[in-house]
Amino acid sequence: MVWPNTQKLGTEDCEPMRDRILANGDAAASVSHSNSATPTSGASRREFLTSLAVAGAGAMLPASGAITVIAQVTRSTRGRIDVHHHMAPPSYVKAMDREIAPTAAYRNWSPAVSLEKMDKANVATSILSPIQGLVRDSLSDRSERARSLARQNNDYGAQVVRDRPDRFGLFATLPMPDVEGSLKEIAYALDTLKADGFGLFTSYLDKWPGDPVFAPVFDELNRRRAVLFFHPAHHTCCRDMAGLTGTIEFDIDTARAIDSLLLSGTLSRCPDVKFIFTHAGGAFTTLAPRMIDDFPKRFADRVPRGVEYEFKKLYFDTAHAGAAAPLDALKDIVSTSQVLYGSDVPIREYPLTDDKLEAYGGFSPAEWQAVNRGNAERLFPRLKA
Ligand SMILES: [Zn+2]
Repeated sequence: MVWPNTQKLGTEDCEPMRDRILANGDAAASVSHSNSATPTSGASRREFLTSLAVAGAGAMLPASGAITVIAQVTRSTRGRIDVHHHMAPPSYVKAMDREIAPTAAYRNWSPAVSLEKMDKANVATSILSPIQGLVRDSLSDRSERARSLARQNNDYGAQVVRDRPDRFGLFATLPMPDVEGSLKEIAYALDTLKADGFGLFTSYLDKWPGDPVFAPVFDELNRRRAVLFFHPAHHTCCRDMAGLTGTIEFDIDTARAIDSLLLSGTLSRCPDVKFIFTHAGGAFTTLAPRMIDDFPKRFADRVPRGVEYEFKKLYFDTAHAGAAAPLDALKDIVSTSQVLYGSDVPIREYPLTDDKLEAYGGFSPAEWQAVNRGNAERLFPRLKA
């Protein structure tokens, strides 16, 4: 078990911001001006703004019509879908008790904790995935324990979804790089548990996902047309580096994972997999143009349709990346159809992402609707209202 000093690595990701969205479009602004009941500050304003976003094209109707549409948009019926939302199964917390901080907030997590936060943030459904800081390397030693932890995690998550299928979904986990164990868990998670997809990590110890050892796993996931949510991790190459906080390694590992999947030919070999990456792509987002320009010509046969083609198929969430810099850069790479709402709750709180999203002026009302819900409905048809 190789895991470094967690204090140094910190919790998970990066940074915060403020309100706007009404400045996002004339249509939305005209609705707000014509509606004297428009909240002007705080949570009620955020809620109203989110309703506007969910109303999407409806917000472009004349003021009286738009207000009718907004009135129909309630939290419980048409809220956002959060694809980056973590769970901490009690059995996993117990198994990792000696490795995680005694003060780790997720020690006291329960579905009720998430539901309370989701209700306040106008989130209808969250797709649950493992917490990287809790799981660490526990899935990766090819042991029976690793297989058992993956199974317990997935059984627990599936029960949460069975209890509230309208409010939760499940990204099941796999004991990578144990290929035989992972293949068995794929079948169990999809056929028995009816998982919505898989929550994987951008690296497992010293291996990025394009490593040849993972090829049978990705081929099976492609055959099953799986949705894969890749959460950042710390590769063994880059743990405890002197003089660095370690914080940016999550974002850099995301870029490396995509590079690895690209160079290995996994992206082009598995066209039916839906790949989701977090935090608007992390470092990938600014590196993508260079990756396109400088992809080694001697490996061109691994990317027959071209690098840009493969990048445009990827999905990205907004967690901790609602600022203009990452979102504008992301929009240069993919269309809005590939952007999904994500929050990183309960590691982080909703306002960390939401305050910045509300200040972001780069999406039209219809695009907000797609980001908040529509794009995720395409990936998870069972959530279609
Ligand atoms: Zn996260």
